[in-house]
Amino acid sequence: MTEPSSAVLLRVHPLGEADVLVVAHTERWGKVRAAARSARRSKRRFAGGLGAGAVGAAELHPGRGGGLWRLDGFVPRLDHGAMGRDLDRFAFVAYLCELTDVLVEDLHPEPGLHAALEWAIGVTLEQPPDAMALRRYELALLHHLGLLPSFDGCCVCGAPTAAEDVPFDATRGGALCPSHGRGAPSQHGEVLRCATALLAGESVELSTPLRRALRDLLRAQIHGHLRTPLRSVELFAHLGRPRTAAAADGAP
Ligand SMILES: [Zn+2]
Repeated sequence: MTEPSSAVLLRVHPLGEADVLVVAHTERWGKVRAAARSARRSKRRFAGGLGAGAVGAAELHPGRGGGLWRLDGFVPRLDHGAMGRDLDRFAFVAYLCELTDVLVEDLHPEPGLHAALEWAIGVTLEQPPDAMALRRYELALLHHLGLLPSFDGCCVCGAPTAAEDVPFDATRGGALCPSHGRGAPSQHGEVLRCATALLAGESVELSTPLRRALRDLLRAQIHGHLRTPLRSVELFAHLGRPRTAAAADGAP
């Protein structure tokens, strides 16, 4: 029997009368699609239930001939009660899961990305939801996908960038020095420094306008790689306000 792997359930669908189709991101195998037989009847193997956003240990077995994997058991590690009581938390976790589901390829294990996803969900459940957790995960995801723009040096020549208004063009690779960045739109230097710090795991403080600038910078970077709009983003749009200040700039 294989050892259970840390897993996040990204998407859960009914499959026939009693089975469930699960898309999970696992520490060991990356993203897998698995059928959980009789999951809607078995209280023993799936005692905590199977819900999108759940973080826990999954007992998974590869499918034959590249087909669906088999999920034989799942033990939740985090208490997801907070998700049901707070729409911001629910929307944040839905966004983290959907982003991973649509952008990450199946069976490409990335333990660093998996750790970043578990961290972002955990902190969203355990603390007042803060949009910076979403930004940090977006940065980790872009990094793992090889889509991260340069934040701290000219993407053409590597020269240090200006401190304040930094020419920035994502289509060319990110930040630019004054001579390569002539005519490019500019980005606040503090936003780019904050992106670097978040990626390094540091905590950062940004004013509301700069939080929004960072959100918009990453949104533009991510949206270029989406085939269809994210449903969780539509959910953000329907949530309305007011919500907590830290969550308010979260809508991607
Ligand atoms: Zn340059």
